Amino acid sequence: MSLVFTPAPAVTVPVAGGGTYPVHRIYCVGRNYAEHAVEMGFSGREPPFFFLKPTDAVVAVPAGETGKIDYPSLTKNLHHEIELVVAIGVGGRDIRAADAVRHIWGYAVGLDMTRRDLQNDMKKQGRPWCIGKGFEQSAPIGPIVPIASTGELTTGAISLSVNGQVRQNADLKDLIWNVNETIEHLSAAWTLQPGDLIYSGTPAGVAAVVSGDVMEGRVAGLPMLRVAVR
Ligand code: MN
Repeated sequence: MSLVFTPAPAVTVPVAGGGTYPVHRIYCVGRNYAEHAVEMGFSGREPPFFFLKPTDAVVAVPAGETGKIDYPSLTKNLHHEIELVVAIGVGGRDIRAADAVRHIWGYAVGLDMTRRDLQNDMKKQGRPWCIGKGFEQSAPIGPIVPIASTGELTTGAISLSVNGQVRQNADLKDLIWNVNETIEHLSAAWTLQPGDLIYSGTPAGVAAVVSGDVMEGRVAGLPMLRVAVR
């Protein structure tokens, strides 16, 4: 059976030290730092919840380079969300938090770019968030570093600056649901596969960027992610 058109190339992310990581799905955790949950109008004590982005939302930025994203359509309020990204290496379902670390292949710094005005409109109407979260170029990501190099990341600074000014600054230990607990909850709902990326949630300080802005995202122990908005 012949393909009726040429399929899009596989979506991949560079691995620090060489190689590429093929992406299967992109899962995202909502409101996973208490202060961010509060700034969004919630208590910070709700169970974890998830949404997905399309795989081709990835903008993979090699080490030392500046990624570029186009200011997206329809929005007047494009927000940055700096996040620790967990790259799954071993799939599974109903994974217990105590066993979760062996499913982790590595980590990266990611941005969950959000059309906040559209997301808020959808929230008000009880409609899906897709238009606010799942658009092209909405998932910039830096190189993936194998957990064999980093060890398990449970603490350490996470920050984002825009044009040199710090906007978000927190610690991974402030995650409401840590990475292992997140994998437990996520794998109860979906069967995780190698290639799944988990954007683990953003701390407080989300705000708008405009064309010409340059974002620098950092997580202690990982290569910095720099992205310019065109
Ligand atoms: Mn997010």
